[in-house]
Amino acid sequence: MLNRIDLRGGWRDPRALLPRAQLDVSVAVDKIRPIVEAVREHGFAAIQDATHRLDGLRLDRFRVPTEAITRAEATLEPEVRAALVECIDRARRVHADQRRVDLTTEVVPGGTVTERWVPVDRVGLYVPGGLAMYPSTVVMNVVPAQAAGVRSLVVTSPPQAENDGLPDARVLAACALLGVDEVYGVGGAQAVAMLAYGAWTDAAQSAHCDPVDMITGPGNIWVTAAKRLLRGVVGIDAEAGPTEIAVLADDTADPVHVAADLISQAEHDPLAASVLVTPSVELVEAVERELQRQVPETKHADRVGTALTGPQSGAVLVDDLETGLRVVDLYAAEHLEIQTRDARQWAMRVRNAGAIFVGPYAPVSLGDYCAGSNHVLPTGGCARHSSGLSVQSFLRGIHIVEYDEAALRDTARHVVTLATVEDLPAHGQAVRVRFTSSDGFDPLG
Ligand code: NAD
Repeated sequence: MLNRIDLRGGWRDPRALLPRAQLDVSVAVDKIRPIVEAVREHGFAAIQDATHRLDGLRLDRFRVPTEAITRAEATLEPEVRAALVECIDRARRVHADQRRVDLTTEVVPGGTVTERWVPVDRVGLYVPGGLAMYPSTVVMNVVPAQAAGVRSLVVTSPPQAENDGLPDARVLAACALLGVDEVYGVGGAQAVAMLAYGAWTDAAQSAHCDPVDMITGPGNIWVTAAKRLLRGVVGIDAEAGPTEIAVLADDTADPVHVAADLISQAEHDPLAASVLVTPSVELVEAVERELQRQVPETKHADRVGTALTGPQSGAVLVDDLETGLRVVDLYAAEHLEIQTRDARQWAMRVRNAGAIFVGPYAPVSLGDYCAGSNHVLPTGGCARHSSGLSVQSFLRGIHIVEYDEAALRDTARHVVTLATVEDLPAHGQAVRVRFTSSDGFDPLG
């Protein structure tokens, strides 16, 4: 079922051989550009058109009424409520510990720099809802934003025919549990464009969504493409696209667990990637047998089969775990499981991954819901330079510079020298005028 990639026989850079999705985000950007431009120009009229074409729904309002959010919470099944409350509680505990404190550094006597952490003012949170519904993603977006102190939060999620054109009822209930009341039933690239540019219904602006300063949240390739296109117009967390799991395993791994975990992520999307990296041929064969047994029994067998057999998935054979470590670092998976002897030691040596799941009792699905960690994580190799969503994602560090006269006088010579080197004499003059006019002091003297 899985493509085999044999890297045994000495190290060679495997980047060209590693499995990755063929439909890449840059191709998708060209496809969604017209949607984004239409929303920019025509607001909700363009959203209405895209929703009809792509979600199959004719809608004339997109803001979810407050009563519908309250009703969704009131009618939530008790066991779903209990699970969501636990998910929120654990995530809140982890994210509360991520808060930053302002720090002041005394650079010289009389000269300080304070780093003040200020939350982004208004944030738009995308919650997917095409092939699966994601109330857990409401939690993973909202909890760090609230812990950071973001004042204005808006959630958007695709409209569902089963819920009268509103987002999924469990998604709305999660918004209610977290106290979010500005929610839109808009999905895909049109939702990202709405958040970035704002949207209105007509000249009288009888309904509108104000633009946000930053957009976070995962989504399919179209959502990810829109985020890439609009980066700069608006702040973007990271590209959190079709999900990925890589498992670094040795012969101690249980093939039943490995197969179940590969399937669990393949279930998200036909473009999801499931990759096994191991020196053990026996493990690859045992996992293959397990996949043959488990895939037909799983509910979304078609989607899982497409994802597992796609070019983005595979079993990579390596000479040893050292080489395996280099391979998973190059791959930079969104989720990396380590199922080896001394798993923690290997985990502590990994440099590139969105989140790492250590040993036999930390499957990725635990992290999807209830580990306390965040599940909005960088995909497509972005874990080389980006982190998952956290309190830090919603904060900006502003430097506050305070120097008194004596401190500037002591530093003036260096400022003027560097300004001269850069041929920016007005920079030097801005320092010089503070001294020469009053007492004749020449900073270069
Ligand atoms: P989604 O909300 O991301 O996408 C659905 C929307 O896509 C629809 O509303 C529709 O408007 C739009 N769309 C559908 N077909 C289109 C087309 N041909 N052209 C343009 N737009 C189109 O929901 P989904 O499809 O279920 O995808 C969710 C994704 O989120 C999955 O890929 C999953 O793996 C990923 N995910 C990632 C993370 C992460 O942290 N990386 C976490 C959770 C989920």
